[in-house]
Amino acid sequence: MHPAIAVGHLALAGVSEEGITSELQMATRDLKIPAQRHPEKQRRADSAQPKKPDWIRVKAPTSEGYKQTRDIMREHKLVTVCEEAGCPNVGECWSQGHATMMIMGEVCTRACTFCNIATGKPPEALDVFEPGRVADAVKKLGLNHVVITSVDRDDVEDGGAEHFAQTIRAVRRQSPGTTIEILTPDFIRCDDSVLKIVVDARPDVFNHNLETVPGLYPEVRPGARYFHSLRLLQRVKELDPAMFTKSGIMVGLGEDRQAVTQVMEDMRAADIDFLTIGQYLQPTPKHHKVDRFVTPEEFAAYEKAAYGKGFLMVSASPLTRSSYHAGDDFARLRAARMKKLGVS
Ligand code: SF4
Repeated sequence: MHPAIAVGHLALAGVSEEGITSELQMATRDLKIPAQRHPEKQRRADSAQPKKPDWIRVKAPTSEGYKQTRDIMREHKLVTVCEEAGCPNVGECWSQGHATMMIMGEVCTRACTFCNIATGKPPEALDVFEPGRVADAVKKLGLNHVVITSVDRDDVEDGGAEHFAQTIRAVRRQSPGTTIEILTPDFIRCDDSVLKIVVDARPDVFNHNLETVPGLYPEVRPGARYFHSLRLLQRVKELDPAMFTKSGIMVGLGEDRQAVTQVMEDMRAADIDFLTIGQYLQPTPKHHKVDRFVTPEEFAAYEKAAYGKGFLMVSASPLTRSSYHAGDDFARLRAARMKKLGVS
């Protein structure tokens, strides 16, 4: 039995009245309401986001392609990080069918202060039919490259490693020509061995975001540890030296340039191939405040510096997100490795 199913059954069988009430409250929680979406953030002071500069503006999503992608997601009962995180690129990406599916539910067990994913105790065990639905949707969308991410499920013994592996295998079976990129949690509360379960399923790209510089972890990513995340990516490379590894950070959270440079050095020491850097945008006044909007020129300087440190691929721009243009970037990433190896 999958560990998540065992956890779910125990939770329901264990069953104090208080437990039943909270199960019911969770079941009736409306995740569109900010106060219910982020109960742990309600006591935080409001901080308004400064006015966005021109280079951040994006068009409202209206295209036919956008609607088709949305319908396929609804039809397959799939959650996307594009919608849950309020991504500014959703109009552009979905018009081409590029939706990043978020598996293991829509409630995250962490409480990162930058993130708009709903937080709390997930009401459900993992859905054993979800890998099949993801595979069906990928086939229907006709994707050459898919990005699959998830919420953190600290309530599940293996952190969802087996669920990730099953999803990768299901997509491979139905769409053998599709390359697969995963963006995983840190598995920090799990046994070290769970990472191998995911790596053995052979995703093409293993991404885990460091999100920010180490000095901001206690405020921005309190449930995580910088060196654990870094080491996770290094271990992926140790387990499978041919696997592409990728990681990203947001800027504008309050970091300085020297700290960003240090993160680049750390990532290269962990043999990470692909770095993404994008502007942090504040989902609500209860989230971590935007310290500043980093200019396009500063992003260009970060990109240049990162290439200088030996990354195979770098994407650094205000609207860069881990999954933005991921398919095209994967082709460039593969070409860059071939060139480095002297293979034409
Ligand atoms: S950048 Fe990623 S999260 Fe944002 S809309 Fe595109 S695929 Fe979705």
